[in-house]
Amino acid sequence: MTGPSLAVVGRARERALADLVAQLQPAAAAAGFVESADAAEANVVVNVVDVERPQPFRRRSKGTFVAALWTAPEVPEDGLRDTYPMLVRALANISLCYVPGHGVLFTTMERGHYLVPEGEGLASAVVERLEPLATARLVIENEFRTDLEPELWGGDERTAEIAAAGRRLDGLGLLPAPFPVEELVGERDLRHIKRLYAIGGLSYGNLSARKDATRFWMSASGVDKAKLAEPGRDILLVSGYDEDAGRMVLSVPPHVTPRRVSVDAIEHWMIYRQNPEVGAILHVHAWMDGIAATEINYPCGTAELASSVAALVAAAPVPGEAVVGLRNHGITATGAGLLEILDRIEPRLLPQVPMT
Ligand SMILES: [Zn+2]
Repeated sequence: MTGPSLAVVGRARERALADLVAQLQPAAAAAGFVESADAAEANVVVNVVDVERPQPFRRRSKGTFVAALWTAPEVPEDGLRDTYPMLVRALANISLCYVPGHGVLFTTMERGHYLVPEGEGLASAVVERLEPLATARLVIENEFRTDLEPELWGGDERTAEIAAAGRRLDGLGLLPAPFPVEELVGERDLRHIKRLYAIGGLSYGNLSARKDATRFWMSASGVDKAKLAEPGRDILLVSGYDEDAGRMVLSVPPHVTPRRVSVDAIEHWMIYRQNPEVGAILHVHAWMDGIAATEINYPCGTAELASSVAALVAAAPVPGEAVVGLRNHGITATGAGLLEILDRIEPRLLPQVPMT
């Protein structure tokens, strides 16, 4: 079996960045990557971009993971706010900002931002941190079936609970404003972003509530969580998971043009499956002291993030009332209902997610 393939595209104009780029392929080869001459076919593409005029790398397949590598002379004042725009403008899955003498700042879609410090073997350290994220498997396709029972077209008590919890989260200031993606890229690139990340728009956090033994309601992707109202549009009924195709199955009313379900549907699916006592799940970009957390910050919507979070829930003292940390990202909490979860965790929530 051969390892994943990696290609480096673009050119570094700055000397220090060029030196780092030259060390990347050997470091990747040592970590088991195969060098790919054809970037269109590579699993991982490191796109070296110019700060002034970043050339996005347009992938042909969603499976291609693109890291935008660039350089800044000094450590950005606001690690997230100053690097996230490059992630978007370069249409990348992750931004890697090299600050010579300091290290490489990683910025993720999930608002993670952390440093791999300068030192011997910086390229190897970057590859080591990048590899699990870049090779994780996305489960973000949706299959819509117009088989939602007519009595659920207007929702039920559980969709009403999701709506109420969304309003309460908004009131608590627990839904960070999405980065204004529309202002950073043109319409064509915006379509590319939505298609590749399989999102309806950028937003953070999600909520779900169990319907029965096999199905659950979940917030849609990219919607205003303070206004979750209509089934099929704002809230989707997740009724299956097609593992071979890597697709979530959604039951929707026939008269609605459905929105995509949150990319974290696979994570909630695994938690409900493994823990029959879990009645609701809440995910926010906040933190709590003393919680168990994932070791690797896999991207949202990957099978690897889903199984590592589900494993932590299953290992919790009370899986039905668990709070687990997603490293450099946020928390996922389980409970009987969403309002019960909020009552329980609200006094202990910390707005800042620690970055490590
Ligand atoms: Zn998140």
